[in-house]
Amino acid sequence: MFSILKDWREQRVLDNSEFTHADWMQAAERIVILDRLDEDEMTRLFELATLFLHDKSITGAQGFEITDAVRRSIALQACLPILNLSLEWYAGWSSIIIYPGSYTSESTTVDEFGIVHEGHQHRSGEAWLRGPIILSWKDAKHSGERDGHNVVIHEFVHKLDMLNGRANGFPPMQPDMDPTRWTETMERGFADFQKHRKAGLDRYGATNPAEFFAVLSEVFFETPQKLMDAYPDIYEIMVKFFCQTPLGPKS
Ligand SMILES: [Zn+2]
Repeated sequence: MFSILKDWREQRVLDNSEFTHADWMQAAERIVILDRLDEDEMTRLFELATLFLHDKSITGAQGFEITDAVRRSIALQACLPILNLSLEWYAGWSSIIIYPGSYTSESTTVDEFGIVHEGHQHRSGEAWLRGPIILSWKDAKHSGERDGHNVVIHEFVHKLDMLNGRANGFPPMQPDMDPTRWTETMERGFADFQKHRKAGLDRYGATNPAEFFAVLSEVFFETPQKLMDAYPDIYEIMVKFFCQTPLGPKS
């Protein structure tokens, strides 16, 4: 019964969408990393993004104007990690705040209140436990260019991580996943990354296990071969977690 009501509600939102398929296609063409998706996946991503925009509020700070292009760009990239999961993975919070550029924050506390900070004095993004996601458009607008950096995916992956408490690099597992394998694989990788540089992987990932997971997720969706080259075992568990194979199906 509840699922029928949910489906009906979702269908109503989709039917009343302010954006057409062509609008979404135009937005998707600007996000290079989406070009691996087939037609069905792309349509599903557009539907997810439509529901996402209905559920979440996106507001500008410091006079930043939230245009339809900004909303579509954020929604598409935010929904890529949950393309084969569901919007339930972003439950429990509703606000995204966008600054025109990097910003400084009064808060200097890291993690004690469940807040994850990026950058040093200047920040390009933050994800608050049960609170908003904050992004700098200057950084976010370059996301999706297949350069291995994606602040949108980074912050939204922190939200997946926070579904079972503070961000710690251990999100809820999929039913067919072995939590011990996840922990051991990520711990082994994190220990190695703290000692060794890896081509295409941002050193910021060495900060703590939560940043390691978020930074490697950026690479998983942007430049997956770099992750496969550096940590094939982490690529494999991320395939299971995100239920996606950005390098394509195994031959
Ligand atoms: Zn982070």
